[in-house]
Amino acid sequence: MPDILKTIAARDPHETEFYQAVTEVLGSIKPVLDQNPQYRQAAVLDRITEPERIVTFRVPWLDDVGNVKVNRGFCIEMSSAIGPYKSGLRFHPSVNQSILKFLAFEQVFKNALTTLPLGGGAGGSDFDPKGKSDDEVMRFCHSFMTELYHHIGINTDIVAGDIGVGSREIGYLFGMYKKLSNSFTGALTGKGLNWGGSLIRAQAAGYGCVYFAAEMLATRDMSFDGLKCLLSGSGNVAQHTAEKLIELGAKVITLSDSSGYVHDPEGIDKEKLAYVKILKNIRRGRIQEYVEKYTGATYTATDALLDYHPLWSHRAACAFPCATQNEINEKDAYNLINNNIKLVCEGANMPCTPQAMNIFLDKPMLYGPGKAANAGGVAVSGLEMVQNSMRLNWLEEEVDSRLKIIMKQIHKTCLDAAEAYGTPGNYANGANITGFVKVVEAMLDQGVV
Ligand code: NDP
Repeated sequence: MPDILKTIAARDPHETEFYQAVTEVLGSIKPVLDQNPQYRQAAVLDRITEPERIVTFRVPWLDDVGNVKVNRGFCIEMSSAIGPYKSGLRFHPSVNQSILKFLAFEQVFKNALTTLPLGGGAGGSDFDPKGKSDDEVMRFCHSFMTELYHHIGINTDIVAGDIGVGSREIGYLFGMYKKLSNSFTGALTGKGLNWGGSLIRAQAAGYGCVYFAAEMLATRDMSFDGLKCLLSGSGNVAQHTAEKLIELGAKVITLSDSSGYVHDPEGIDKEKLAYVKILKNIRRGRIQEYVEKYTGATYTATDALLDYHPLWSHRAACAFPCATQNEINEKDAYNLINNNIKLVCEGANMPCTPQAMNIFLDKPMLYGPGKAANAGGVAVSGLEMVQNSMRLNWLEEEVDSRLKIIMKQIHKTCLDAAEAYGTPGNYANGANITGFVKVVEAMLDQGVV
């Protein structure tokens, strides 16, 4: 075990997700370290795995009947080597320091891949917006921002959404940020279109994921036309991954939430997806309701006792995990392989366990790691920042075409780096190596800070 992993395990033994994310990157970069002894001399691994700053804070708020509630807030600023921290905010009961450190660590490499000058971080809270009224969500977001605003800013740390933080939450957060800072700036991205947001930002992670996957397929002279696709999740990333896949002629047959999944053998078309968007984004319902409207589909509730997820047992050509970390385990990976899967492309961050990932990498299939494949979200956040600075709004076509170019560039960079370091076609190695070298070279230029 490399020394740095021993140090991390000894120092923070409970931070399993962070340990997993670091282990995965270390698995790719040994040849880079061997060819560049100056990296080890400058202790870059010790530095890049230790956040520049972690702030935890109390978030008190009042529920609708006047009870005082308290959640824990986090702001993790991992690396500002190549630009101000750019963080996603996650509101979910599972949120803890390990999960946010893993997200922040991945974000550093992902942001480096986008070609934009953005560092990496993550933030959030163990607050659960599910089942809360809009007023409760507003009071929580306002309280959360009364502390977070000390740490963010257009040249410091720019925050966007992640699980549990969509346009509603960004609106409340921005409102309080604007009031406290007395300035209307782009310190948050994912804003509403009539108050500083960018067209295509909401769609960006999902569309970008499909653009990346299309590039991967093109290396095998394939397109999405007629391909069956399995998707997990039914939130922002899943909805827009499905939308672009449908547009490109693929047949999306599954969607899920944490309670269960739906399988629609006829395919989830545009009209059905429009229903899902209203169900999830406006009515804030559960995916189970899909089968009440579309009776040809079946619903399977999540069974915590199963050691696999039946969603990944359906026969399909492509799989897009778009829900959360570690949602595809070793057994799921074998189920996908036994059904002759051709492509797995990660809309979510770290959705495959290390065992699942190694199974995919050992096969002649295409495997697109999240830090490359879902980088479209942060890329268009970067474009939103550019538009805010210029005080203008680009047209939808302009943002979408820039997103396509960025995803194409990320795809090429990953392939080139994988080839250069002796693992052709291994996008995971390509993504890790490219992001690592860019960040570490900046660290060396800036000295020991
Ligand atoms: P949303 O909150 O919009 O949707 C999350 C979806 O995943 C919901 O369907 C949710 O179900 C499901 N989910 C969440 N936690 C679990 C769990 N523990 N088990 C099963 N299902 C779960 O989040 P996003 O779509 O924004 O994010 C999804 C993934 O994409 C995350 O990994 C995120 O880090 C990543 N990502 C997001 C980007 C963005 O711009 N938003 C950019 C890049 C990556 P339920 O409603 O039941 O909780």
